[in-house]
Amino acid sequence: MAMMFPNLDRSMGPSDTLKIECGACGRRSTWTRKQAFALLGAGSTPADIRWRLACAGCKVKGRARVWI
Ligand SMILES: [Zn+2]
Repeated sequence: MAMMFPNLDRSMGPSDTLKIECGACGRRSTWTRKQAFALLGAGSTPADIRWRLACAGCKVKGRARVWI
């Protein structure tokens, strides 16, 4: 089940991964801490990420579910 977190920097350890699931088509991605920081910014909150990401499969934006 999705775990809420304050932001990436405070929540991800070096070996943690960020899991992202599209709420529209169910496509899942897993990013390393390094990838997540580079692509989203270390201070990103779950809400920031949800609104920023567009699905690589169906292109829907704003529906991503994210957890660590
Ligand atoms: Zn999708």
